[in-house]
Amino acid sequence: MNLDLTDKTAIVTGAGRGGRGIGGAIALALAQAGADVVITARTNIADAEAVADAVNALGRKGYAVTCDVASAESVEEMVRKSQELLGRIDILVNNAGVTKDTLLLRMDEAAWDVVLDTNLKGTFLCTRAVAKIMLKQKAGRIINITSVMGLVGNPGQANYSASKAGIIGFTRTVARELGSRGITVNAVAPGFIETQMTDALPESSRDDILKKVPLARLGTPEDVGAAVTFLASNAASYITGQVLTVDGGMTV
Ligand code: NAP
Repeated sequence: MNLDLTDKTAIVTGAGRGGRGIGGAIALALAQAGADVVITARTNIADAEAVADAVNALGRKGYAVTCDVASAESVEEMVRKSQELLGRIDILVNNAGVTKDTLLLRMDEAAWDVVLDTNLKGTFLCTRAVAKIMLKQKAGRIINITSVMGLVGNPGQANYSASKAGIIGFTRTVARELGSRGITVNAVAPGFIETQMTDALPESSRDDILKKVPLARLGTPEDVGAAVTFLASNAASYITGQVLTVDGGMTV
C-alpha cells in the first residue's frame, strides 16, 4: 500500500492550535508522509508557526498563513499565497471549525451564522478557490473534516450538526463534479477527539461518552491525521464521495 506523499503539497485550514488541535496533527501526519504544508490560522498564527516549525523539523517545508475561512477575500488571498509558496496544491484539508452550542430555543441567529459561515461556507470557499488550481493540474485530493454529529445529530448542536451534515452533501456533490478531472473529494467524520473543543466537556459527559464507544477511549488528533493521510495518498485513488468515520465505533 502506497501512503507516500513525497513532494506533494497540502493546505490544512484551522491548524492554529499547535499540537493540541486536529489540524496540527493532520499537518504533521501529511509532513511525516512526505508533504510540504501550508498551515492556516485565523487568530493563533504563533501556534500555526509552531506547527510549521515542526513540519520543517521533519525535513519538509512548512508555512503559516493567516486566513479567515468565512471571508471569500481572505480565502482567495491565502490560496494565492499558498500557490506562490508551494508551487502547486495537491491536497486541501478543510479542517477549520467552531462550535456555539446551546439548545434550539435559546440559539440566536449569531450562534447559527458563525457556525454555518465557518464550517460550511468556509469549506465551500476554500474548495472553490483550490479546485480552480486542481482542475488545471487535472489532479487533487480534497478532504473535508465533518463530524459524527453531522450523521446522528446531538442535542445542543443544531447549528454544528447542520453545518457538518451540509459538508457531507457538499462532499458528495463536488466529488461528482470533479471526479472526471482526477480530483477525489472525501470527508472524515471524527467522533470525540481529545482537543480544546472536547476539553470543555464536563467530566460526567466524558464518562457518558466513553460508555458509548466500543473501543473505550476518546480518539486522538493523530487518529484523524492517519485517516486523512490515507485519503490523500495513492492508496485511496479509487475512493471518492465517501465519509470515513473515525469514532472508535461509537456510531455503529
Ligand atoms: P479547535 O482546537 O477548536 O481548532 C479549530 C481551528 O479552527 C482553530 O485552529 C481555529 O483557529 C480555526 N478556526 C475557527 N474559525 C476559523 C475561521 N473563521 N477561519 C479560519 N480558521 C478558523 O478544534 P479541533 O477540535 O481541532 O477541530 C478541528 C475540526 O475537527 C473542526 O472542523 C471540528 O468541527 C472537527 N471535529 C472535532 C471533533 C473533536 O472531538 N474535537 C470531533 C469531530 C469533528 P483560531 O484558533 O486561529 O481561531
